[in-house]
Amino acid sequence: MVTEGQKVELVAAACAVRSNSYAPYSNYRVGAAILLPDGSVITGVNVENASYGLSNCAERTAVFKAVTDGYKEILAVAVCTDNGGSPCGACRQVLIEFAGDIPVLLSNAKGEVQETTLYSLLPAHFGPEHLD
Ligand SMILES: [Zn+2]
Repeated sequence: MVTEGQKVELVAAACAVRSNSYAPYSNYRVGAAILLPDGSVITGVNVENASYGLSNCAERTAVFKAVTDGYKEILAVAVCTDNGGSPCGACRQVLIEFAGDIPVLLSNAKGEVQETTLYSLLPAHFGPEHLD
């Protein structure tokens, strides 16, 4: 169970890290934060590249950092952008690998937060359970 306090903390972490985004091509800065079972929070930003195709989203940056640190389960995710944008399809799929129907908090630059869930964003998803 994710508390309201944890959700507020998660959004704040995503918005705080957003300034570290490397987005010289799109200027679409994204910060993400994920909540882990031990209560810790890991952040990520989008990292663009001159080749464009090798750019990485903030959400996947955070997930890959968490897995690197030994985590395999995600309890919630927050994303902070100028306009409250939602995770792309690739990030939804990567999140599904480590999460169930978790809260997804979408914040814009004004601090307005829309809450949805991962299964709402990726219905009829394909996950690890389909390979058993
Ligand atoms: Zn993405």
